[in-house]
Amino acid sequence: MIKVVTDLIKYELDIRAVINLFYQNEKVYFNKDNGEEYDFLIEISVDDKKVLVTIVSDAIKETVTENLSDDFRTNTCEDQLLLRNREKKNKVKLGLYKGLSTITGHSSKWGTLTGVRPTKLIFMAKKEGMNKEQILRQFMDHYLCEESKTRLILEIAEYEYDKVEEYIDEDNYSLYVGIPFCPTTCLYCSFASNPVGGNEQIIEEYLKALYKEIEITAEFMKGKKLISLYIGGGTPTALNAKQLEELLNKIKTEFNYEAKNEYTVEAGRPDSITLDKLKVLKKYGVNRISINPQVMDDDILKVIGRHHRVLDIIDSFNMARSIGFDNINMDIIMGLPKQNMLAAEKTIKDIMNLNPESITVHTLALKKNSALTLALSEYENMLDEDVQSMTDMAFKELRYDGYTPYYLYRQKNIASHLENIGYAKRGYECIYNILMMEEMQTIVACGAGTISKKVGNPRLIIEGKPGIMPSIERYDNPRNLKDYIQRIDEITDKKRHFFNSESKD
Ligand code: SF4
Repeated sequence: MIKVVTDLIKYELDIRAVINLFYQNEKVYFNKDNGEEYDFLIEISVDDKKVLVTIVSDAIKETVTENLSDDFRTNTCEDQLLLRNREKKNKVKLGLYKGLSTITGHSSKWGTLTGVRPTKLIFMAKKEGMNKEQILRQFMDHYLCEESKTRLILEIAEYEYDKVEEYIDEDNYSLYVGIPFCPTTCLYCSFASNPVGGNEQIIEEYLKALYKEIEITAEFMKGKKLISLYIGGGTPTALNAKQLEELLNKIKTEFNYEAKNEYTVEAGRPDSITLDKLKVLKKYGVNRISINPQVMDDDILKVIGRHHRVLDIIDSFNMARSIGFDNINMDIIMGLPKQNMLAAEKTIKDIMNLNPESITVHTLALKKNSALTLALSEYENMLDEDVQSMTDMAFKELRYDGYTPYYLYRQKNIASHLENIGYAKRGYECIYNILMMEEMQTIVACGAGTISKKVGNPRLIIEGKPGIMPSIERYDNPRNLKDYIQRIDEITDKKRHFFNSESKD
């Protein structure tokens, strides 16, 4: 147990995130405890000149002082408060990180960067007029981020910017539709997903509620410009061909999209793909699909709860190609139970042989409530610790084969504190992934467990005062299927109100 004593409660989440880098499963209490004996006491204080972090246990005492800049003392007017806050927060994280790193002997390649979207900091630095060299210095000195990671996000941010600049506008939006059903539940899954088997009745009720939400959403988004569509989940192709056709037809009837709009459907699980369903997707203008093997190894597929084989993945891919899908993404995961370097190399080689237009390489994350996390002791000895070498190998091989990293995000409890990277051949980057991940555009989401985000003043990502970013407000739909179905009228009313109200500045 770790006890933190500090007045800086507004940084609680950041402090927890840094502690989590070193002590993943430890309970952390702020300014009080539950009477248990604690292993460490961490005291964090700040004055006008410095941040002071002291870490004490029975055996050690570590003190770190981080000096605040001269600007911090002089920038006291209203519109500089954001910059002052940012410096203070960064110095708190830095002091804590250094202290814990000294005590444990561990570090993270991303240093004190614990957020989901490190590329956003690059956009911020560029907006403040910093050049490449200055950004490199800042990331390495202020966040202790390794040079290789900083260069990677610099490259990605530039790539993203070129790709989506033309879409950044307050009146543009993208549509996400969630289908929370899958053939079976994967071991590591924490998404809104329910097995299809035994849920036939609820699927019909769910689709009825979803159609209502789609109708009302289309009505209040009238006059705005739809840029991209994404049907995810779950696995949308877990629906039967008739249900899938009804869904796509509903979207077509309600939303005004054109052939040039990017339209993605996650045909994620090979065991859900049939020729009929692929033909339905083609008929309604879907121009990008994702077939997600995760791993090309029959034994590991069994361990992670998938009822299909490597051959099924190859067959599904070839079937999609045969009816003209020329933009296919494939998702894989590094660090799965039983996956070692050999298995990882085989996955990369097999996928590259198929030659999809994009490949997303995830690093296994132990998500709260996934079957893997809940039964971790059963799988712990199947987890290879050297996930870093696997992702390095993937990076090298994919780049060599002409795939460029174009978006990146990180997750809590991700193996070795690494990241997920989307790679694509030039011209095949997914616009939706960039806009959504960088929060550069409003995303209107329909379905249980989906999250809508309203982005006000998106151009502030590249313009405006230092430190000032667009306003981002979110609206969450309930994740529970019964809740979603029963409360659909209330949900759509609230959502309409949310999107019709003015964005916060
Ligand atoms: S396919 Fe995706 S959403 Fe479905 S169970 Fe597996 S991880 Fe979860």
